[in-house]
Amino acid sequence: MKLIDLNPNGAIGASATYVQIGAFHILVDSGLNPKELGLAATPDFGLIEDIDLDLIVLTHCHLDHLGSLPIIAAHNPDTPIITSAPNVELAPRMLRNSINVMKRQREEHGITDYPLFLHRDVIQVSKQLVMQRFERGEIYRKGDETIEVILHPAGHVVGAAAVEFIHNNRRIVFSGDVLFEAQRTLPGAHLPTGKIDTLILETTRGAKARKPELTRASEVDRLVTQINDILERGGSCLIPVFALGRMQELFKIIFEARSFGRLPKCPIHAAGLGMDICNYFEKIRKRTQLIDFDISMLEKMKVRSVDQNMRPGRDLPRKGIYLVSSGMMVEHTPSYKVAASLLPHPQNGICFVGYCDPDTPGGKLLEERDSGSFFFDVLDYSAPIRASIDQFDLSGHAHREELSDYATQSEARSVVLNHGDPEAREWFLRDLTERLPQSKIVNPTSGIEYTV
Ligand SMILES: [Zn+2]
Ligand SMILES: [Zn+2]
Repeated sequence: MKLIDLNPNGAIGASATYVQIGAFHILVDSGLNPKELGLAATPDFGLIEDIDLDLIVLTHCHLDHLGSLPIIAAHNPDTPIITSAPNVELAPRMLRNSINVMKRQREEHGITDYPLFLHRDVIQVSKQLVMQRFERGEIYRKGDETIEVILHPAGHVVGAAAVEFIHNNRRIVFSGDVLFEAQRTLPGAHLPTGKIDTLILETTRGAKARKPELTRASEVDRLVTQINDILERGGSCLIPVFALGRMQELFKIIFEARSFGRLPKCPIHAAGLGMDICNYFEKIRKRTQLIDFDISMLEKMKVRSVDQNMRPGRDLPRKGIYLVSSGMMVEHTPSYKVAASLLPHPQNGICFVGYCDPDTPGGKLLEERDSGSFFFDVLDYSAPIRASIDQFDLSGHAHREELSDYATQSEARSVVLNHGDPEAREWFLRDLTERLPQSKIVNPTSGIEYTV
């Protein structure tokens, strides 16, 4: 089997892996790097431009896995894009939103590459999407060769799949982004067990050891207590969230805390794409029963939109909980603007509930929270830090120890590391080399072809 990691920067970036298994040319995921702009955010498709792909698999609908799919689909208009039922619903919605964001960025920042694709390209993607049920194999043929494709639930976010290929009795498994623990809206991963030949493994959390005293339940508890404290002292609470997955999870956590009398009733403000995704979640629940999310709770909580009348430094016009994207407080997003309003006021608080890349404003604010002030670049505003800033570990990714255990039980002959910063991959390289001494552990350099 041949493999090329097409993600040009080698860290998390734009997920896209090309593999050749027998006669089959396959691409798993086609993302955009959230930290880059324009064409620099795309995978290095030049490396496969002369190849006719036989299959494309989409593991889930976060943009680092989905965002450049229309570009590669346009080059391979007859290739099936295999994915789970929720992703068939969500992918076009996420891509259409991405076009609108790119068009805005073109105007506001003069990025002439944008938009990288158009609505007609999304229609083309929709035509190519092939829904496949979890844990049910489908056989694809080419000449006299066959390959079986099986999707396995990967937790992480609704629709997320690990993908298994079986070819000549060899099992090749891409973990995709994985969470073994159950979330309030979604059961945990159920990955294929038994011996695997080649495992392509995500490594997002490789740089941090698991703290056994911290559980998901205890973190939810600590978060609810913190929100309560902020509200009791008369402040507003900002929770920056990803629109897909995390926002809906937080709605459920808040709703349940209220039902048990652990949070007082207060206005909840939400904005943007995430609210629309809630409608999709409702549809997906009705059709597939793959998630536990009832949209009527938004009405019961009287969720309202965010008052756009915000000015940096002036406290928010309406108090309450602000559940807004982006999760890493990226510039120009609602969470960035809300933070610029609430940060100078000591009664307020920010609760981060997921991973923040150190290069994003959210990551920098966490880093600099004891420094006294924070500079909001695009608003040209330096805010004194008086609000409380806390972080809670409700990550959508498995702990490194769990992934290492999984790889070890699979006795994979080759493990290819993927989707992680250099430090994270280093840990897996050391750990798996020790635990699987007979196996080949590969930390691929982008753009180089490996035989595994
Ligand atoms: Zn993801
Ligand atoms: Zn990812």
